[in-house]
Formats: sequence, structure tokens, C-alpha cells
Amino acid sequence: MIPSDGLRSASPLPFLAHAMRHEERTAVIGDQGAFSYRELLDASSHVAAGLLDGRPDLEEERIGFLITPGFAWVAALWGIWRAGGIAVPFPAGSPRPELEYLVEDTRASALLFDALAAPLLEPLAAERGIRACLYDELARRPAANLPQLGVEHRAMILYTSGTTNRPKGVVTTHANIAAQITSLVAAWEWTPSDRILLCLPLHHVHGIINVVGCALWSGASCRMLPRFDADAVWEHIAGGELTLFMAVPTIYVKLIAAWEAASPGRRAELSRASAGLRLMVSGSAALPVSTLERWREISGHTLLERYGMTEIGMALSNPLHGRRLPGSVGTPLPGVDVQLTGEDGKPVAPGTSGEIEVRGPGVFAGYWGRPEATQEAFRGDWFRTGDTAVLEEGSYRILGRTKIDILKTGGHKVSALEIEEALRRHPAVAECAVVGLPDAEWGERVAAAIVLKEGHALDLASLRSWARESLAAYKAPSRILLVKALPRNAMGKVIKPAVAALF
Ligand code: AMP
Repeated sequence: MIPSDGLRSASPLPFLAHAMRHEERTAVIGDQGAFSYRELLDASSHVAAGLLDGRPDLEEERIGFLITPGFAWVAALWGIWRAGGIAVPFPAGSPRPELEYLVEDTRASALLFDALAAPLLEPLAAERGIRACLYDELARRPAANLPQLGVEHRAMILYTSGTTNRPKGVVTTHANIAAQITSLVAAWEWTPSDRILLCLPLHHVHGIINVVGCALWSGASCRMLPRFDADAVWEHIAGGELTLFMAVPTIYVKLIAAWEAASPGRRAELSRASAGLRLMVSGSAALPVSTLERWREISGHTLLERYGMTEIGMALSNPLHGRRLPGSVGTPLPGVDVQLTGEDGKPVAPGTSGEIEVRGPGVFAGYWGRPEATQEAFRGDWFRTGDTAVLEEGSYRILGRTKIDILKTGGHKVSALEIEEALRRHPAVAECAVVGLPDAEWGERVAAAIVLKEGHALDLASLRSWARESLAAYKAPSRILLVKALPRNAMGKVIKPAVAALF
């Protein structure tokens, strides 16, 4: 619409327009108390004004920020967005060289941090001659005119680790983020009366989009924990305040352990309270069927497993209503096209494994500063995820990362995830990770790193003879290594190259 004064009418970015509909509702609850959408809009406008410092628009300058999850984290993100910047959420607890890499790779023009992160980031900014901004100071700046931005404006860079190279920055626009969020809001039927707990780190798509993004898009409220703590999570579930919970499989494993350590009375109380939630979701790594089953016994919930990736947001999900298939990740989410392709690049028939390719408005805009990597990652407008899956009974089952989890042994292609799922049924196995080790005779050998249950023992011969009852001989591990713990990243995902290095 062109108003009569001839100026193009400026509509706020979608996340703002949504927040404005719910000004009086509670948006964020954290250690500092409860904050409304109004307070979030106010604080973020001050942060934006402070970042602009008299300029009309940050024009997609990158602003790295490190703030403890809570109200200030969201106000900082929104402030960067409202000033026209690209937000780069830094991972908490990163060693200095990793943060230096992020600052250099993004060519950040400013770092924004809270008092806790100041001792780390202030000197880093000073060394590079870039602006250092303390959140509390920016939030006190007087309000100013903020730029009008379009949805094609780039909004965020999330870093995703490659297996061999340094992490790549995944760039999303406001339109991408809006598409990723609206797909989940529709599929999982978010409403303003939802209340979710954030216990995931805020440098990853899971926490940022699926939890905080969807909640604040919907006018719902998000209780934010500074970090994951099993007892604190149970405390909030027991308090009866939540309607939704989303986490990675390792978090469910830790919640199960905490539940098992509780007294019988407390267990009953926790189980009763969790049954009151309307939805519990797992994703970001394969959910072991044993974990799904144990969680069902404890909470009464069949976890809804979904599949997604930093580059695409969420792509596949089991249904909100209807049968959820253990070990499967369901069907394409609204607005997402999915196909499986063979090595010739052509779609494969159902029942045949292939690489997952994804298309849709949620797919990212490109890797930051890496045009070749971006080009390689696409086949036309299809993003090649690098994950292999198979469509069975109308539902996708993830077989793993094509280059890491699909092993070639004795001419057979096998899925590490499938072998892990089988090995976890062994009575002595608590956790395991399967990798392929280069081998002159077999191409690759199936090797399993295993964490034993307390008081159990296991040797290769007995594991092999046990495994052959449920797995073809070539899938049974020919090497095992007993370890105390599997190497995992901040999201709780097993780092496969680090597992291979153990052998
Ligand atoms: P990230 O970009 O860190 O979210 O990692 C995305 C990767 O995690 C995907 O490419 C998959 O390899 C893996 N992943 C995500 N969800 C699942 C799932 N439900 N089952 C198995 N793997 C998953």
C-alpha cells in the first residue's frame, strides 16, 4: 500500500509484528524475573539505538554476542536485528581461540556481552580495535529512530562444525527464519497459552528457532535456564507450569538418570507432572529407541522425534496427532520439500536409501564468505544435507551422515546408526558409537566404542556372537573399544572423528 504522502508504508519485520500483538503477555521468565513482550520491545529498541550510535542503519554489520540465556539475550538479539545488524550468537564456554575465529571469520564490527562474558570479550575487542558493548550500558541508551528493514535482510550467522574443516557460518535472512518458525508453529500447533522451558545452548538452531523463536512468535512464554541442569528441569516440570518441552537425546538420558535417582514418592510426582505437558520433542541427533521407550514409561509421552539442520531449520517430523514411529523422523513439515537422491543425483524409489535433499523458504542463504562451499551444497535449488535416509512405511528413517555414518565394508553399505541401535539392546551396553576404520582388506572395518553399564564386562568375541543374532555378519563390529564416555559436543552429539581417533 502506498500512503497518500507518497512514502512506502513500512511494515515491521515479522518477529516484531508478532511481538506487538502480545505486548501485555509474559515473554521471558528467567533468574531476574518475568518480562513482558512490551519490556522486550523497549529493551531491544534501546540496544538497537546504542548499537547505531547515531547511524541510520548497521547495514548488515556482524555483531557477535555472548550473553547468558535470559531476557537480556533476547533483547540483544532483537536489538541487533532492529538496528539492521547480523546477529552472531557465540557459544558459551568456548575457549578463546574459537571465539577469535568467529570474530575474524565474520569480520564482526562489534561485540556485545554481559558482565559475565566481559572479561573474555572486552580484551578480544580491544586487541582488534572493534567496538565493545556491555549490554547493561546499551540498554540504558536513549531511544532513537530505527531503520525500516525488509525480510530479505540477512539476520543471523550460526556456526556449524564440519568434520574436517573449520566451522562454517550459516547465514539466514529474516524471511528464512520466519519460514523455519512458521512451519513449526503450524505443525506443532503453538498458541499464546504455551509455556516452554529452554535448557539448550543459544548458539544452535534447536534453542534459537525451535524453542525461543517459536515461543516468541506465538505470544507464548519461555522460561530460560542459564544452562542445562537435570534437577532444575525436573523442578520446572514438577511445578506444572510447562505445556511443551524440547531437548536433545542426551538431555533425555540425563533426565532419566535423575528420575531414577529420586525417591519413589518423588518419581511418582515427576511422572504425574510430565504427563500434564501437551508435547515433548527430541531432535538434533538420533533418539535411541531404548531412550524413547524408557521415557514413555516414565512420562507417559511418546517423544516426537524430528530431523533438522542449521542450514534448513526443521525438515521432517513425526505427527503431533497420530502414530509416532520409534526410530523414524516422520514426514516433511509444512512448506518443506524433501527428496532422497541416489549417487546419480536422481530421486530413489521408496525403500532405497538416498541423500536427503531439502527445498523451501526456510533453507539458508549461503555459507558466510564461502561461495564455493555454498555452490557445492546445492543441486539447483535443492540443498544437499549430506545425510542418508530411507523412506519406509511412509516415514523417513535417518541412516546417518553420508560420509561418516555410511560405512563401506566388504562391498556392503551399512549404517552406523542402525548398528548402534542394535548394540544398545545388549544388556551390558549403556552407550555406543560406531565408526568405520580404514582397512586394506575390508575397505572399512566396523568399529564400536562402548560405554558399559556399571558392573558389566564385554569382549569382542561375545559381542560378535550376540550381534550376529540380530545383524548380518558384515555389520557386526570387528573391533571394540571400551571407553568411560563418548566424546560429545556442546549439543550432546557424539563427535565421530574423535571416536575414530580413539582406536
Ligand atoms: P545441526 O546442524 O547441528 O543441527 O546438525 C544437523 C545434523 O544432525 C543433521 O545433518 C543430522 O546428521 C543430525 N540430526 C538431526 N536430527 C536428527 C535425528 N532426529 N536423527 C538423526 N540425526 C539427526
